[in-house]
Amino acid sequence: MDLRFSDQENEFRAQVRGSLEQLLTGRFAALRGRGGAGDEDALFDERLAWERHLSANNWNCLSWPKAFGGRDLTLMQEVIFFEEYAKARAPGRLGHIGEGLLGPTLIACGNEEQKKRFLPKISAVEELWCQGYSEPGAGSDLAAVSCRAELVNGQWRLHGQKTWTSHAQRADWCFVLARTEASSTRHAGLSYLLVPMKQAGVDIRPIIQPTGEGDFNEVFFDDARTDATCIVGEPGEGWKIAMATLAFERGSSTLAQQLQFTNELAQVRGAAADRGLLKNNEISMRLAQAQMELLAMRWSSLRMLDGMASGQLDAPALTSKLYWSNWHRNLGELAMDLLGCDGDLVGEGYDLSSLQRLFLFSRADTIYAGSNEIQRNIIAERGLGLPKDRWRDDS
Ligand SMILES: Cc1cc2nc3c(=O)[nH]c(=O)nc-3n(C[C@H](O)[C@H](O)[C@H](O)COP(=O)(O)OP(=O)(O)OC[C@H]3O[C@@H](n4cnc5c(N)ncnc54)[C@H](O)[C@@H]3O)c2cc1C
Repeated sequence: MDLRFSDQENEFRAQVRGSLEQLLTGRFAALRGRGGAGDEDALFDERLAWERHLSANNWNCLSWPKAFGGRDLTLMQEVIFFEEYAKARAPGRLGHIGEGLLGPTLIACGNEEQKKRFLPKISAVEELWCQGYSEPGAGSDLAAVSCRAELVNGQWRLHGQKTWTSHAQRADWCFVLARTEASSTRHAGLSYLLVPMKQAGVDIRPIIQPTGEGDFNEVFFDDARTDATCIVGEPGEGWKIAMATLAFERGSSTLAQQLQFTNELAQVRGAAADRGLLKNNEISMRLAQAQMELLAMRWSSLRMLDGMASGQLDAPALTSKLYWSNWHRNLGELAMDLLGCDGDLVGEGYDLSSLQRLFLFSRADTIYAGSNEIQRNIIAERGLGLPKDRWRDDS
């Protein structure tokens, strides 16, 4: 295994760095560092304009086929782009659910009409997407989905509730896991539907988070409709397609996330320096520990990406989510500990500092994309070959 970047890759890195420097100027310069953890709602219109600017300059959908607005770049080139993006402190992405989840799913599982209809609009950032999986009774146990859909006169009609739907209030479309066979249970009888959000049968209610942001939502479908053709795969194949989407959820953005963590760690270190705490034994040891763990994560991620490129699933792929989410949560706790009483106080109008936002948002990291407990079950079952989780009848 060779974890070094090749000369060509380093050349590509220089090209990305130069381009981002050039693009993040003028009206976009103010977006540096915005839209990250706990700041997801910030400057929506400006960030949308930024994404369109990136698209116009061919810097999104990098690994997609050229025919659909992509650039056919390799996984490593995509990784390099995300690394440089984080280094430049370019703003948090808005189109990532379409670009990173639905797009690759359609490329792998969609039909030609669906690819032609939806992919160019995603790559041009003309349509934003959200993910309609979780329900009040179906989170970790996703096969308990009860939102239902029925085909009537050439249209799917949906009834039911989704929850924790990130960006639903901004999205034009949602990919929904719904039960389309009335008497079915668990993984059978589910379908993967593409549903327009801006219609009378869709009611979106923001859930206000402790950060004060309303980034995710409850979504109610009350006779919401979508065309009969807006189904990916066959009726009843929804589970298979939904799992394909989840497989895209992590990957090339992992290393970029670590650079964002590096920026945050530097900020926490800066706060410790400002308070004269760098010589405090406990704080300095915790900062050093965080730094070493970050380095270990980087090498593990490079190993994981090397494994993904060759189609293998090895230990770093199984443990990565558990590792980074706990690291990030610990960093938030360290920030609060060194801020002392200042960490408990908020400015007028609930104006949180970036470290307070980091602390609050990092509590969510151990829940979404597979909670800590579920990650441990996966490690136990797939990594260690232990017996299956007895809580679930069919896991
Ligand atoms: C920031 C954020 C954004 C999100 N965005 C979206 C989105 O856009 N779209 C979407 O569909 N969903 C989204 N989610 C929802 C997310 O996928 C769920 O929160 C997650 O799947 C957990 O489900 P739950 O919240 O229902 O908790 P539950 O599944 O009810 O779990 C509750 C607790 O029980 C534990 N538990 C559950 N089952 C087991 C088990 N078998 N063994 C041991 N312990 C267990 C869990 O670990 C957890 O601690 C988001 C969540 C967050 C936090």
